[in-house]
Amino acid sequence: MAILNADLHCHSNVSDGTLSPEQLAARASANGVELWALTDHDEVGGQRRAMAAASALGLPYLTGTEISITFAGETVHIVGLGFDADDPQLKQGLAATRGGREARAREMAAGLAVVGVKDAFEGALRYVGNPELISRTHFARHLVETGVCNDTYEVFRRFLVEGKPGYVPHRWAKLGDAVRWISEAGGIAVVAHPGRYKFTPTEEYALFTEFVAHGGRGVEVVTGSHSAAEYLKYADLAQELGLLASRGSDFHAPGESRTDLGALPWLPGTLAPVWEALADRVIAPLDAATASS
Ligand code: AMP
Ligand code: MN
Ligand code: MN
Ligand code: MN
Repeated sequence: MAILNADLHCHSNVSDGTLSPEQLAARASANGVELWALTDHDEVGGQRRAMAAASALGLPYLTGTEISITFAGETVHIVGLGFDADDPQLKQGLAATRGGREARAREMAAGLAVVGVKDAFEGALRYVGNPELISRTHFARHLVETGVCNDTYEVFRRFLVEGKPGYVPHRWAKLGDAVRWISEAGGIAVVAHPGRYKFTPTEEYALFTEFVAHGGRGVEVVTGSHSAAEYLKYADLAQELGLLASRGSDFHAPGESRTDLGALPWLPGTLAPVWEALADRVIAPLDAATASS
């Protein structure tokens, strides 16, 4: 059924969200989400808590993560869904991907200091819930809180994107590795918010061709990061390439994220929803209750 309030993309304070996995589960449930996945960046440390909280609320759950990769010189995000969260290869791959974030953050702070924004590393750190996961989002919150910018979007625009003083190029995981970690852990790999990347049509085609060749199977069509025109564009692409379609708000924080949990348009009815292919990986409230006892 394409008409299911599935929200398979959001972040807790285990990565760059502000709410705990438990608070997110409660918010998803209150907003009418019928199938939920927590997809923290490069991390599965919140999965047990999300699963337990979802179970207690009677909310069906899929495991999730969002892996940062580098493709054609750009950062691309690959969402993994329905994998075994204890898989050693996946956990090791994510740990390696997290490594280097602190050094990068110190370089970002050095770049910001040059333009007069002092002590940004210490400032950003105050917003970090997981010391291995300091991200640009934490810098953005610090710069808003200290009055340098009015909102996080302005911080990114002025300071944190390529060509700006706080931007530090970084080499993330490889596409093939990320897809393999997810698939071999029993999950499905999905290209996150493809409309956000600054690729030429040729580069975008290469991304999807290589993604599929590595065993990737899904694409986010309806996401908080897409415009209505992009829903249509990527619905067409999903059909052309025979990809499963996903739906997720990419919710990070109340008052900061434009799209709340569960508040997206439906997936177009012509598409094959990724959650149908993952039906046997859905953790029904009863399963999780048994698993955690
Ligand atoms: P990082 O993994 O440290 O590079 O941080 C990436 C995160 O920053 C993304 O997951 C978003 O939460 C946020 N982000 C990236 N680009 C923007 C933008 N242009 N405006 C607002 N938030 C952004
Ligand atoms: Mn994020
Ligand atoms: Mn993303
Ligand atoms: Mn995300």
